[in-house]
Amino acid sequence: MNITIVGGGFGGVKTALELSKNSKNHITVISDKEDFQYYPALYGTATGHSHLQSWVSLGTVFAGKMNINVVIDTITKIDPTAKTLASTNGNTYEYDHLVLALGAVTTYFGIEGLDQYTFGIKSEEEIRELKHHLYQEIAEQREVEKQYVVIGGGPTGVELAAALGTYIKRLCERHKVPHGRVGVTLVEAAPRILPRMHPATSKKVTERLRSIGVKVQVNKKVESASSEGLMVNGKPLSSHTIIWTSGVANNPFFAANSEHFEIAKNGKVVVNDYLRTKDGIHVIGDNAFTPYSGLAQTALHDALFVSHNFGRWQTHKPLKKYKPVTPVVSIPVGKDWAVFEWHWIRFYGWLASVVRQAADFIGYRDILPFGQALGAWHAQKIVEEDYFTPTPKKK
Ligand SMILES: Cc1cc2nc3c(=O)[nH]c(=O)nc-3n(C[C@H](O)[C@H](O)[C@H](O)COP(=O)(O)OP(=O)(O)OC[C@H]3O[C@@H](n4cnc5c(N)ncnc54)[C@H](O)[C@@H]3O)c2cc1C
Repeated sequence: MNITIVGGGFGGVKTALELSKNSKNHITVISDKEDFQYYPALYGTATGHSHLQSWVSLGTVFAGKMNINVVIDTITKIDPTAKTLASTNGNTYEYDHLVLALGAVTTYFGIEGLDQYTFGIKSEEEIRELKHHLYQEIAEQREVEKQYVVIGGGPTGVELAAALGTYIKRLCERHKVPHGRVGVTLVEAAPRILPRMHPATSKKVTERLRSIGVKVQVNKKVESASSEGLMVNGKPLSSHTIIWTSGVANNPFFAANSEHFEIAKNGKVVVNDYLRTKDGIHVIGDNAFTPYSGLAQTALHDALFVSHNFGRWQTHKPLKKYKPVTPVVSIPVGKDWAVFEWHWIRFYGWLASVVRQAADFIGYRDILPFGQALGAWHAQKIVEEDYFTPTPKKK
């Protein structure tokens, strides 16, 4: 069976790995990037830890899988009648069976200046820009800002805000720049941070952030950004380092091909009980309108579901219906402290941070062979400030 998968992220890679177990399957993975990105670790790489925890080439992920062919290209158009995909390189790809796992993109909700004046941490390029900027400010201009601002009190914003102060201090010490107290401000529009989690969790995490020196501002709507900082609820908030972690939208591919997809109000693709569209195309992970879409765990679950159903179809067994699985949420908040939430179970502190570390290992292991998974997991502990920055000159 020939199966084409678009997207080299959690959903696409896991589907390919599962399907490759059957040597009769021939799998083509088309992705616009050469690397697989392990998003949960990006905040760590952005704050001075090894890049090895955050991305690995698709060639390495699929090493030894003779029935997987990787193509680097960006898909822009689909014709479900002709069963073809068109790309920015002008290529046309025919497919027999198709899985779309294109992931989400950043949106700025049309807020003036945000795209121009804020940094992001959702890709290698964004992290590179942020780290260059911090290097220039601290190592070259020898300046420490009064406050570093993180916008968005979701999991990424919380993780980043908690780690940023320590990183800035380390950079200052390394380059012998006096720093005093480093101010990090976390700005959230909702009445509490982590609005999708239990209120008790929001309270605990707010206390934890404050105890490690992060200023938490809730009910604060960002109205615009400029080179001098932000306008928040009509008041200026000065900073040259503002990081936008909020705002996720479905991949624009679906809106651009909306005649072939039913699009839900939140921009995701409506799928049936088998994660398929009316044309039989599988849509999984962040792209699918499912209860827990937007999490790596869901993308992995969807990938397993879809690949197992392919197997059932090949062996003439009845297909199984999709059942969403409640995700485990575990968010690190500074060194050796995390929050854990699953159904009604909630706990905080060191034990939760151990659980998070174990979850990360399982996450790497879902994608990589044991040895490589161990290496990527261990890389979380490696400090590597200079990966993106020129090595400072010795005086
Ligand atoms: C900073 C950050 C931290 C996160 N932390 C967590 C966490 O701790 N736990 C958790 O469960 N989830 C977390 N998530 C969410 C999780 O990463 C996503 O839900 C998951 O990656 C979705 O998997 P996916 O396969 O749908 O998309 P992705 O993993 O994003 O993969 C999409 C792939 O498609 C490729 N692609 C996109 N457009 C095209 C195109 N037109 N043509 C070809 N290829 C294309 C992309 O390059 C990418 O390879 C985090 C997300 C971010 C941004």
